[in-house]
Amino acid sequence: MENAVANTPQLTDRFGRRVSYVRVSITDRCDLRCLYCMSEDMRFLPRPQILTLEEIHRVCEAFVALGVDKIRITGGEPLVRRGAVDLMAGIARLPGLRELVLSSNGTRLAELAGDIRAAGVRRINISLDSLDPQRFRQLTRVGDLARVLDGIEAALKAGFERIKINAVILRGRNHDEVVSLTRFAIDHGIDISFIEEMPLGHVDGHDRAEEFYSSDAIRRDLEQVFELLPSPETTGGPSRYFRIAGSASRVGFISPHSHNFCGSCNRVRVTAEGRLLLCLGNEHAVELKDVLRAEQASAEALKATIRNAMAIKPERHHFDLEAQPVILRHMNATGG
Ligand code: SAM
Ligand code: SF4
Repeated sequence: MENAVANTPQLTDRFGRRVSYVRVSITDRCDLRCLYCMSEDMRFLPRPQILTLEEIHRVCEAFVALGVDKIRITGGEPLVRRGAVDLMAGIARLPGLRELVLSSNGTRLAELAGDIRAAGVRRINISLDSLDPQRFRQLTRVGDLARVLDGIEAALKAGFERIKINAVILRGRNHDEVVSLTRFAIDHGIDISFIEEMPLGHVDGHDRAEEFYSSDAIRRDLEQVFELLPSPETTGGPSRYFRIAGSASRVGFISPHSHNFCGSCNRVRVTAEGRLLLCLGNEHAVELKDVLRAEQASAEALKATIRNAMAIKPERHHFDLEAQPVILRHMNATGG
């Protein structure tokens, strides 16, 4: 049995976890400055340090050849990168890829949703933390809620198989909106996930420990109003899902603090710079850019580097909101 597994093109780490899902950040840049994600004066990477679109395609091709069947395009904001839609169309055509999905802040979806769907993206996650324009502006520092709501409408029209709202909930900032955000999801026939903030990178302007609002607290708030029915669905990630009785919507809780999910982890990340990150909560990484740009660059060398990297995928993360961030990279550089 062991030999059969070893002979199939699969990525398996030393804890026997199969890696079948890659999240690829195609830019560290963004048109928003969400409080929990970035500091106000973020410096972005110089262009030559970022993988080209062609290099990103080669990375995705290597992963799919190694048995990865799901890719998420993320960032920063992926839709601010010129050529993003063509890149996605190329990746969607890779034989063996089951699902190409996208995370976006929604600001450009009003223009691009139809093209993205036509490119072969099946599902889309859109970040939305508040339905109040002023609060939305405060949380994103610069954002215009109306644009994102137009983007969600355009995504609905474009006919994605599933649309999900992602909301990071912070005590004292938007924790009182969990019911209205859920109602918004139900009214639009879409799903919603609530995310606990993770201590990635230094952020100014808010205290992570003070503003922590747990998934359990959100669930309690929702259960005052909705009936949540446990759902067996799992993504192998930190989400737990519930169906909302009497609606087509699901509600998810992404709880890196209160529920450990590392045992079933099936994913790795590639940063915009081409670092393969083996764990969201650890620094273990392997540089792919050097391999991609080597004089003798080959698909085989790239695949071998990825395969060997599995040996350093850590067993679990240890997040601590009280401590100084151990993980110095920000979420936009990580590829949420
Ligand atoms: N710009 C896109 C967006 O906002 O959806 C994609 C990239 S963003 C980094 C991906 C997800 O990470 C978003 O849902 C965002 O809310 C979440 N995120 C960013 N920083 C976070 C943090 N420190 N803790 C938890 N989630 C975070
Ligand atoms: Fe940009 Fe997404 Fe980070 Fe907000 S969460 S600053 S939209 S990358």
